[in-house]
Amino acid sequence: MQLDLTGKRALITAGAGGIGRRTAELFSQAGAKVFICDIDQDQLEDARDKVANLGGTLTDVSDKEALKAMFGAAVDYLGGLDILVNNAGTAGPTGPVEGVSFEDWQSCIDINLTSTFLMTQMAVPYLRDAGGGAIINLSSAAGKFGFPMRSPYSAAKWGIVGFTRTIAIELGPDRIRCNAIQPGAVEGARIDRVIKAKAEAKGISENAMRSELASIASLKEFVTADDIASMILFLCSKAGAHITGQALSVDAGLEGLV
Ligand code: NAD
Repeated sequence: MQLDLTGKRALITAGAGGIGRRTAELFSQAGAKVFICDIDQDQLEDARDKVANLGGTLTDVSDKEALKAMFGAAVDYLGGLDILVNNAGTAGPTGPVEGVSFEDWQSCIDINLTSTFLMTQMAVPYLRDAGGGAIINLSSAAGKFGFPMRSPYSAAKWGIVGFTRTIAIELGPDRIRCNAIQPGAVEGARIDRVIKAKAEAKGISENAMRSELASIASLKEFVTADDIASMILFLCSKAGAHITGQALSVDAGLEGLV
């Protein structure tokens, strides 16, 4: 019963696939009304078809004006707001810092960090009106350790942790909680692409590469979107009522990324 979200209204960015989609499904099953945005039309329609009590629009979170319009549509559909999940993120460019273009840096910061700031700013008055609420920001293990060849992503995900801790202090008196989650590598299309590319570069099989990458975690496994979504549900429910300002690792026990 502690994980019940009956009557709660939740907005999830990038909610049509991966972690966002699984979170939308768990929220809906827990009784929440959910609104998502995404850039993938087919996935968005699939989510609308399959997830109960879910609305959504096609929106790129790096487009400031589109984000504003999406937020308006979300609070109209939901009739207010209790929960915001800033889930949208992109891995950004891979390579040494001296080769990162300014455009790639900016795009990675915009999608991961600036969208989190803008969404939070828009959500706060509605969360206050609701008498409090929960904000979850998706950081990463790359926001806890150094992550060679991914400097824009790591900078954005560390930034999310600082933003989360600060917002939690500012908004605590309004009973608005704010937490970050730091996933390790999640099973799915993203890690499959990394495994394929690394296996090719090293000239080894994809299975061998998969085992090598998984072996940096204590549990020798990747995590799943369900693991992350379950933690988000826990933090947004009564079970998490006194947890704020935290960056929680769900990473199968990582001690580093190299
Ligand atoms: P994903 O790559 O599976 O994408 C999920 C959804 O995001 C997709 O439906 C995609 O269409 C949508 N999307 C991509 N760019 C968008 C944009 N600009 N605007 C709106 N929607 C957009 O992502 P995921 O693996 O589920 O990751 C979710 C969050 O978790 C991200 O912030 C990511 O950085 C973080 N994270 C993921 C991993 C991992 O291994 N997958 C690890 C650590 C942190």
